[in-house]
Amino acid sequence: MKLLVINAGSSSLKYQLYDMTDESVLAKGLVERIGMDSSILTHKPIGKEEVTEVSEILEHTTAIRKVLEKLTDKEHGVLASVNEIQAVGHRVVHGGEAFKGSALVTPEVKAEIRRLFDLAPLHNPPAIMGINASEANMPGVPNVVAFDTAFHQTMDEKVYLYPIPRVLYKKHRIRRYGAHGTSHQYVSRMAAEYLNRPIEELKIITCHIGNGASLTAVKGGVSVDTSMGLTPLEGLMMGTRSGDLDPTVVTFVMNKEELSISEVNSMLNKHSGLLAISGSSSDMRDITDGWEEGKPNETLAFEMYEYRLRKYIGSYAAAMNGVDVIVFTAGVGENSAIVREKTCENLSYLGVELDKELNKIRSGEPRRISTPNSKVEVLVIPTNEELMIARDTLSIVQESK
Ligand code: AMP
Repeated sequence: MKLLVINAGSSSLKYQLYDMTDESVLAKGLVERIGMDSSILTHKPIGKEEVTEVSEILEHTTAIRKVLEKLTDKEHGVLASVNEIQAVGHRVVHGGEAFKGSALVTPEVKAEIRRLFDLAPLHNPPAIMGINASEANMPGVPNVVAFDTAFHQTMDEKVYLYPIPRVLYKKHRIRRYGAHGTSHQYVSRMAAEYLNRPIEELKIITCHIGNGASLTAVKGGVSVDTSMGLTPLEGLMMGTRSGDLDPTVVTFVMNKEELSISEVNSMLNKHSGLLAISGSSSDMRDITDGWEEGKPNETLAFEMYEYRLRKYIGSYAAAMNGVDVIVFTAGVGENSAIVREKTCENLSYLGVELDKELNKIRSGEPRRISTPNSKVEVLVIPTNEELMIARDTLSIVQESK
């Protein structure tokens, strides 16, 4: 079965076409600057040359039409006809409390995603645009939605509630939801598979650290705690997001600096984190370069980032009364040997012992970076959210037949 996986943002749309007989990727690509007259479509058919096309793409329906044209193009295509695509999987950021797993798209499911616009105003509306665009271009083809929050729906009430008046939860569903669930689920399963151990008996801390970053405590295969909250702002220090802070900072700054809600939101989401402390970059490559050169601001940014990450790992070991496996994934987790090294250096009390040479190797494959004596297995596992969505799409479509 051939499946298309779509990740729609407000002005971008990423896609991957899978052949699920062997889970191989046939083509992937990206449409950028949707809504502008110079939109860019980059199409990479596997085994053929990449193509880039600039044209006017004003909305998502046209974006998907252009993608389908490329997928079936004589020169750059990988399909004889669009009819070969038998299902489409969509990434949706917020599934609220309604979705505990992926779901087949129905009018009710779309209505529920719309009801969640309040909780994810930047992310859920483009997901609906992606679904509508796919329905318009491929009538009759089933659509499946996979939610970033779904994996964390197993968290206990004591974990997901904030200690604030309960009426706010009852009225507005204010609680912790988490994010990156597809990635945390994928890498925790892969970790168990790699170690050849049943996931039911493992306590795993998955560190998804990319531009956005979150940690999850996975016990017996389910999420028992995760560092992101009502929104992806809570938790770790990130590229441009602050992560945890005293909520009074918000009201204090709004008062003193006369900032509006959107200005303070922008400050905390786009102008904080590594960028704010270094004053130069949100990219961990630049931060570590600066740290190696002894630049004070980059050094402080690096040390704060690592310290906060390490504290979270410690708190999740406490949450699960132990840890068997620590997994590093996403841009920083997969690529930054120095972030992994410095973090693990300070986890010796848990019995973590890193093999510094193995840690430096880059392979793009799941691998162990701890020594045989380490009490905790430390793994690097490249995440693959698209494949996870494709697998869910396949099983839901097969079940629905
Ligand atoms: P992601 O959000 O998972 O795509 O991760 C993107 C982030 O990964 C970038 O902003 C960088 O900070 C980080 N990254 C990518 N490659 C490296 C590297 N070689 N060393 C350190 N950080 C990296």
